[in-house]
Amino acid sequence: MALIVQKFGGSSVKDAERVMNVARRIVDTYKQGNSVVVIVSAQGDTTDDLIEKAKEINPNASKREMDMLLSTGEQISISLLAMAIQSLGYNAVSLTGWQAGMTTDSNYSKARIKKINTERLQKELEANNIVIVAGFQGINKYDDITTLGRGGSDTSAVAIAAALHADLCEIYTDVDGVYTADPRIVKSAKKLDSISFDEMLELASLGAGVLHNRSVELAKKYNVNLMVRSSLNNNPGTVVKEENKMERMIVKGVARDNDVARISICNIEDKPGMAFKVFSLLASKKINVDIILQSIGREGKKDISFTVNEDNLEKAVEILEENKERLSFEELKTSNEVSKISIVGSGMVNNPGVACTMFEALYDANINIHMISTSEIKVSVLINKKNADKAMNVIHEKFNLAE
Ligand code: ADP
Ligand code: ASP
Ligand code: MG
Repeated sequence: MALIVQKFGGSSVKDAERVMNVARRIVDTYKQGNSVVVIVSAQGDTTDDLIEKAKEINPNASKREMDMLLSTGEQISISLLAMAIQSLGYNAVSLTGWQAGMTTDSNYSKARIKKINTERLQKELEANNIVIVAGFQGINKYDDITTLGRGGSDTSAVAIAAALHADLCEIYTDVDGVYTADPRIVKSAKKLDSISFDEMLELASLGAGVLHNRSVELAKKYNVNLMVRSSLNNNPGTVVKEENKMERMIVKGVARDNDVARISICNIEDKPGMAFKVFSLLASKKINVDIILQSIGREGKKDISFTVNEDNLEKAVEILEENKERLSFEELKTSNEVSKISIVGSGMVNNPGVACTMFEALYDANINIHMISTSEIKVSVLINKKNADKAMNVIHEKFNLAE
């Protein structure tokens, strides 16, 4: 008998028919003699709808109250799914995050899991129940509800799989697995049979929303047997696992991140310590900075450009403007009409010229590059948002990823 953790995303439980479909799949796994713990997300667009509801009342609602609100989406799905399983004649019990022992830090809206007390989960499993747990949520040391960040149910699932030493963690979604690019944007994208933790972590962090990046981090850390597959068919999915050096590919996939914004600090003094001053200021406000570019100085002045998450643009501009005199710059220029396009592959490290091939694809398509950043396993470029989908397609084609 195996212990299997299954996670079903919002589209997999979006209406009654899908809930029943999921219930049948879960029961099938249970009937084969397995213990089953299920993590489920809010139905369809529920989380987005709840965010809209909050905005109508208070666009600057506190994060604590937002978490209280958003956690209700998952609470609806767990109860409905438990009812669906019961209607098929099997025992199921639904648990919210706190009931399932999920404790997190107090960083509302982006909380990190600290510990899972598995006592209740174990007890329900021993009673032969199918256990349905609300994804995306936990509880902090003040007994307040927290959420793990958008897409966080994947992380709930992997964390519970790790805590219970599950034999398998299956992430069920609305595509057949992890593809060489988002199949909604690149029609010729190909499903991967397997991908390494490191490559998947990069893709997820660079915008491939199929897995929450923290879930991949946890799966690597605790060596969770992780699989992504479709809730709508029985096709084999994608296995996410430790790297097999033989299978190294130069480029494994292409990702797009539209939630970025660029800030340029123009004509800042060209002297030691300026970068330190700028970025320590941003760090003190917990603003993450991504790609950084500094121009060569001229007449004692230089420009520093960098990208931040779009959500942080306003806050970053505010703090820089407040310190304009101390930093002695002339003006700020910003744009959120930009996208970051990245290629990822662990074989890149031994293959010079990969970045160049990517740039050539963009050149052929007459797409201008604003910024570039590279590491051993990825190359990212910042381009105009309106060119993002085209860029993904031409890069995907240039590297023959459809084959
Ligand atoms: P769920 O509700 O099941 O969590 P998500 O919408 O969060 O589903 O994630 C699945 C979606 O991720 C797919 O529908 C697809 O559009 C998108 N996606 C982005 N990049 C990729 C990729 N490389 N492979 C597969 N899907 C991707
Ligand atoms: N419901 C949450 C969201 O929409 C969590 C998740 O789906 O994983 O982000
Ligand atoms: Mg998701």
